[in-house]
Amino acid sequence: MEWLSNKAVVRKVRKEKYLIQEGDVQHPENVSNVIVENEIDVASIKPYCSKEAWKAVISLMKKKKKNTIWICPTCNYQIEERPSILCDSCLVLHHMDCVKTKEHSKHWFCDKCYANFK
Ligand SMILES: [Zn+2]
Ligand SMILES: [Zn+2]
Repeated sequence: MEWLSNKAVVRKVRKEKYLIQEGDVQHPENVSNVIVENEIDVASIKPYCSKEAWKAVISLMKKKKKNTIWICPTCNYQIEERPSILCDSCLVLHHMDCVKTKEHSKHWFCDKCYANFK
């Protein structure tokens, strides 16, 4: 987990169940490319991140990875190169045209999550 933040934060996470905050996430330039090459299980750190921090992690990974592994759940094609929107609940990226959304709203939920709210 240390690639993501600094040692002090990681220690706090382990000892005090501290939740990683957005400001704790390193800038992409400071993160080693090892995270992409070694296929670190990024999803495994999700429970340790605040929602904002997880979003920062996602954008960090996007910047790091040329071939992003983000797949649109609707069409099963990669998210890359087409406008996408992040579900605020499951934190999965969707193509905006696949979910028939034209505007980037701050709080957007995919159909699946939206159905769960009812
Ligand atoms: Zn799609
Ligand atoms: Zn969702």
